[in-house]
Amino acid sequence: HSGFVAIVGRPNVGKSTFLNRIIGQKIAIMSDKAQTTRNKIQGVYTDDDSQIIFLDTPGIHKPSNQLDDFMDKSAFSALKDIDAVLFMISATETRGAGDNFIINQLKKIDKPVYLIINKIDEINPNKLLEIMDTYKKALNWNEVFPISALQGNNVDELMDNLKDKL
Ligand code: GDP
Ligand code: MG
Repeated sequence: HSGFVAIVGRPNVGKSTFLNRIIGQKIAIMSDKAQTTRNKIQGVYTDDDSQIIFLDTPGIHKPSNQLDDFMDKSAFSALKDIDAVLFMISATETRGAGDNFIINQLKKIDKPVYLIINKIDEINPNKLLEIMDTYKKALNWNEVFPISALQGNNVDELMDNLKDKL
């Protein structure tokens, strides 16, 4: 299994924590050295039978101004090379303009998109249902995964599912 996966989401939702959990120390090495103009490599996940390259695609999660309009276009051409997108939200934050901006960008692309609801260690099951309801109609999600990047809940299941698609 191999491919390119973009991981997007507002600041502080837990993207780095997630990557650190699945990849560990290699991230720091990769993010310093391996940069392209369109996509920044955040880390490379490898195991016996897979290699997944995680990318940050800046244009997809920045509000628009003139520079970002340009970035948007490069983000979309960059997304041509991407096999799946993980859109991460935090269970502790309400849906806001930043989330809606990303969702609108994701509507324009034809790639599998996962909704990753992170920080479930901070909430109760009723709250999780409420969050799922809030996002249910926002996009035609290919998969929805509640996880705790910090504690590890459901992270292996997410990775197994992702690997199967690549
Ligand atoms: P990023 O900006 O999306 O890369 O977010 P970070 O990975 O830097 O995380 C932001 C903050 O959220 C840090 O203080 C993390 O420790 C915390 N955090 C990340 N994942 C979780 C989680 O699953 N549960 C809890 N309780 N905190 C988390
Ligand atoms: Mg980060």
